[in-house]
Amino acid sequence: MENLQQIYKQAAQMTYKGQVATYIPALAVNDPNAFAVSMMSAEDSIELGECATMFTLQSVVKVISFMVATNHHGIEEIMHYVDVEPTGDSFNSIVRLESNNNKPFNPMINAGAITIASLLPGRTMYDKVKSVTLFLEQILGKQVHINNEVYFSEYHSADYNRAISYILQANGFLKSDVEEALQVYLQLCSISVNVSDLAKIAFYFATNGKNSEAHCSIEVINIAKALMLTCGMYNFSGKFAAFVGLPAKSGVSGAIIAIVKQGEIEHLQGPIGIGLYGPAIDKVGNSVAGIEFLTQLSKQYELFCL
Ligand code: GLU
Repeated sequence: MENLQQIYKQAAQMTYKGQVATYIPALAVNDPNAFAVSMMSAEDSIELGECATMFTLQSVVKVISFMVATNHHGIEEIMHYVDVEPTGDSFNSIVRLESNNNKPFNPMINAGAITIASLLPGRTMYDKVKSVTLFLEQILGKQVHINNEVYFSEYHSADYNRAISYILQANGFLKSDVEEALQVYLQLCSISVNVSDLAKIAFYFATNGKNSEAHCSIEVINIAKALMLTCGMYNFSGKFAAFVGLPAKSGVSGAIIAIVKQGEIEHLQGPIGIGLYGPAIDKVGNSVAGIEFLTQLSKQYELFCL
């Protein structure tokens, strides 16, 4: 445990190298020095730092929305709307919406995630959001809520995402109207969780959803994990795969989920789900302390999965 405490301490000292996201005003108030980690196996868990703090999922939700939409429509239909290719561009980039037949490159960048939001099951905006929160509630075994302060804050400063939505609509890549897709997407980003919830989500992937009430086909879970490995950590995904070697997804709130299919971390053994929260993020959008922690953890506990 001493080794793990040391990795945590060293990572926590790195927060000064990042900054909290300010382009969503409600995120700017978060404590830049916060850093918490939760890890769970089938039998046990380890928590480091202040694990009760609530924050919003932001881009971490993109994996969940992708699974719900793909479970509903089937892989072939979804692939008509969104590809599964990495971009190396920033998450809210619009440059590639004029290439690849205008199709969004993958569901982990905003363009693809907004298309996915428009494809969620349900007639109304409320139903679409509910389809994702319900799935999440089945994974977590508890109710989840949307942080309306964050939602409205982002909705009123969503120029980029609105621009992306209009381009998607013009090119035939929205199944609903712009406002609905945008609002569904932003509400999903604003779902409130803590690091233990993140660890549970990661554990769901580590066990391929076995024994969970949240049903998803193994093919879809596999695509979700492949997307995390290739596009989950913004335009740091290649380096993260090369040097950490775990499927993972981050969000601008400083949240990260990381999946250990088989490993041993102190007394945790077997499939392990890791959740991290460190709101000081780097220029790309990843939690600085989170990246440092996972890099050291993977190295010292030999978790590299490829
Ligand atoms: N709601 C955020 C946005 O669309 C999510 C970004 C992220 O976490 O990558 O800008």
